[in-house]
Amino acid sequence: MNETASLRARAEIDLAALRANVRALRARASGAQLMAVVKSDAYGHGAVPCAAAALEAGATWLGTATPQEALALRAAGIGGRVMCWLWTPGGPWREAVEADIDVSVSGMWALDEVVAAATEAGIPARVQLKADTGLGRGGCQPADWPELVSAARTAEAAGTLRITGLWSHFACADEPGHPSIEAQLGVFRDMVAYAEKEGVEPEVRHIANSPALLTVPESHFDLVRTGIAMYGISPSPELGTPADFGLRPVMTLSASVALVKQVPPGHGISYGHHYTTSAETTLALVPVGYADGVPRHASGKGPVLLAGRRRTIAGRVAMDQFVVDLGGDTPEPGAEAVLFGPGDRGEPTAEDWAEAAGTIAYEIVTRIGQRVPRVHL
Ligand code: PLP
Repeated sequence: MNETASLRARAEIDLAALRANVRALRARASGAQLMAVVKSDAYGHGAVPCAAAALEAGATWLGTATPQEALALRAAGIGGRVMCWLWTPGGPWREAVEADIDVSVSGMWALDEVVAAATEAGIPARVQLKADTGLGRGGCQPADWPELVSAARTAEAAGTLRITGLWSHFACADEPGHPSIEAQLGVFRDMVAYAEKEGVEPEVRHIANSPALLTVPESHFDLVRTGIAMYGISPSPELGTPADFGLRPVMTLSASVALVKQVPPGHGISYGHHYTTSAETTLALVPVGYADGVPRHASGKGPVLLAGRRRTIAGRVAMDQFVVDLGGDTPEPGAEAVLFGPGDRGEPTAEDWAEAAGTIAYEIVTRIGQRVPRVHL
């Protein structure tokens, strides 16, 4: 049976909230363009509908990690500028060039492969040079920048590529006042100035992610890349709540109670019997588990709104289900259990789940499994 027609579980995606978030974020962006980051299926929210909604609300760029994700947007008829930044050997770079996708390049391997793909395609590649200004992950080291810039300029002169962007990524933008933020901005300015002195005329220079967009205005340059904030989630509890920034959570994850039953005191619950009933009680079985992205690390801790109250998962989260001890309450089978949402109805938020599971809210929403239908509202 098609899960879309099932009542088991669903992730409702409030596209009106996403559009409102994009508008609120643009208003904070110091006039810079906004890139909606829709990698990893829009952080679990559904890449194509979220990309379309973000463009409608004024985003002009879309960002993905892999070229495959970028191509999937084009295949679905999504316009706008699209950039992918995770260079991996083997592409598909020719397809990306032909689909008018900006490709990030951090070093000579990537440059050579993209130039070869563009030569084959007979179209100049749109290339954005990535600087490692201190993140220590992808990007070109300052010492190697002159070589990369010079090779890219030579290819530009030969007509095989156009350098459309100069960009970088922060290490600690979610830690307000972290000294690396100013340090990275300084290195970025220097690396951009060097490239421009060598004749590079980028359409966009960019370094800001959501936390930098929200708290470091001098990082906005020509374009801000926002993911988590667009989905209505604060990049870090340290920075504030979504409401502090005028943002509204976009995803609500809920499931329908599949079984309600009475058990006696002293009954062990779920694998390992890490929870035991203290009195005769009512149990509700909620049919989602770690295969759906409910973190097993939240066993005994994950919050859920059920039968009008916030409860805590009893015992271990299994692959497909978990148990809630309802005490004296007896909901009808099929009652709604809300794992997380905006919080208006007293339901937990994705941030609450992150805390319960010892992780970040990014991981909570991104890992909601493909078995859970996304219902776009
Ligand atoms: N830019 C790059 C290169 C990223 O990898 C990401 C996400 O990890 C983002 C921007 C968006 O970050 P955030 O979700 O914090 O806005």
